[in-house]
Amino acid sequence: MTSPGTKPGLTVVLAEPRGFCAGVERAIDVVERALDRFGAPIYVRHEIVHNKHVVETLKARGVIFVEEVDEVPTGAVTIFSAHGVAERVEEHAGERGLKAIDATCPLVTKVHREGRRYAEKGYHVVMIGHLGHPEVEGTLGRIPGKVHVISEPEDVDGLNLDHPDKVAFVTQTTLSVNDTRDVIDALKRKFPSIVGPDVRDICYATQNRQTAVAEMAKHVDVILVVGAKNSSNSNRLRELGENIGVPSYLIADADAMDMEWLKDAGRVGLTAGASAPETLVQGVIERLRGQCEVDVKTLNVIRENVTFKLPRELLDDPQPSQAAGA
Ligand code: SF4
Repeated sequence: MTSPGTKPGLTVVLAEPRGFCAGVERAIDVVERALDRFGAPIYVRHEIVHNKHVVETLKARGVIFVEEVDEVPTGAVTIFSAHGVAERVEEHAGERGLKAIDATCPLVTKVHREGRRYAEKGYHVVMIGHLGHPEVEGTLGRIPGKVHVISEPEDVDGLNLDHPDKVAFVTQTTLSVNDTRDVIDALKRKFPSIVGPDVRDICYATQNRQTAVAEMAKHVDVILVVGAKNSSNSNRLRELGENIGVPSYLIADADAMDMEWLKDAGRVGLTAGASAPETLVQGVIERLRGQCEVDVKTLNVIRENVTFKLPRELLDDPQPSQAAGA
């Protein structure tokens, strides 16, 4: 029992791994190095990663975010975001004489290549993903021919393809591992000869953060996921917690947290999507410390050691921080 004037106790269980993945680290690094090398302004097509705080920090350094390359002055340095872009965007940038640097995550590029390879071999390609997400738009724009996008097992019923014996699938990198398995199973039932990568294209960071949340959910009363509303992998983390039966909330930052959610909680699980900076996670802990006697414990589930090489335009940068590809 808490005596008057003392704060209630609260254990915060921090999921490990959480937050920035290697693709996001690389994308931000690309923009920062481009700023150092070419000077402001640097143009970035779309949010470099799905996080307002990251975007605002870069804006303050002279980055101008645009929706289309048409908005970029001729000859300016333009960076494509971690989500990737359609081929026509790259071509258009070339026609406009822009100096384009591609910050697409190498794991997204891998999916582009797979999709293209299947299409070139005459397969009808089905993409498992969320229509409208920039990664899906970019992937669709890399695969020749028509690609059907589906997200639920029920969507498989509506797929009426001319050559059902020649179908392949690819997946968005930031989906729920479990939900995607269900969709793949439904595809295999309808198209027994379908080929595809199973859930291996769901990236290591997405998988690891989901595995960590599933483990964390066993130990906590409430789960908080720090991440943007439009961040696919962050939304999947919240859904996963909820599906396991733990009330789970997606918050952009500490200010978005409603203390009412925690009123009956003794243990709160805290994680962050792949595009959410650690400072935001620490901000949540600070806010909790204002109200409670907080004991922070880290739940180490998986150790990550992944880094990606920078794009070749920045490879001869004098700063020697090159990492090995993963
Ligand atoms: S979530 Fe995965 S695919 Fe997306 S940027 Fe990070 S590492 Fe790349």
